[in-house]
Amino acid sequence: MPIAESDVRWVEEPRLGILEQLYVPAIVEGLQTTVQHLFQRKITVQYPEEEPTAVSRDFAKLPANYRGVHRLNRDEQGRVKCVACYMCSTACPAHCIDIVAAPSPWPDREKYPETFVIDELRCIYCGMCEEACPVDAIELTTLYDLTGLSREEMMFDKEKLLSVYDQTVKAGTDPIRTRAGKLSVASEPPLPS
Ligand code: SF4
Ligand code: SF4
Repeated sequence: MPIAESDVRWVEEPRLGILEQLYVPAIVEGLQTTVQHLFQRKITVQYPEEEPTAVSRDFAKLPANYRGVHRLNRDEQGRVKCVACYMCSTACPAHCIDIVAAPSPWPDREKYPETFVIDELRCIYCGMCEEACPVDAIELTTLYDLTGLSREEMMFDKEKLLSVYDQTVKAGTDPIRTRAGKLSVASEPPLPS
């Protein structure tokens, strides 16, 4: 339907003064902004010369809840904490966690992950796996510079995920942020009938 003539409002183009025609106010305003920024706190990180980390200077510090590369945590005895319950892979919206469970070689749990693979290329780093895990076995770390030369390299298996744990704990960059402690009820073997 065409617009009625009475609904049309014509707007007059504002007349510019001599200064505005010379762009002087705009240039002064731009210079003011530049000078203001010269004396403000710097927030740009000159990556890769300057790398933000969990413990670096304030403006280059990653937030405490930053979600980077995964790790599989170890328990007090250095064993993988995971009890192969599939909660993380069920919660994962990207379907990038592949677990094969096997009977546990240890008496304090029923199952353990024989294989545990995360496709880091498919992952959207949402943190749902960390949220879902009942025994705090999987966490996302502050490692962000993830590179690889092949798709296979980006498939992180159990050993690689445990090595991320070792590396981050040794570096002190990622304290265990989920509830640390004993394996929860999810890992308890069934009671004898
Ligand atoms: S961070 Fe999200 S997408 Fe990535 S593995 Fe965990 S649940 Fe899946
Ligand atoms: S939710 Fe935790 S315990 Fe369960 S399979 Fe995933 S990492 Fe292992």
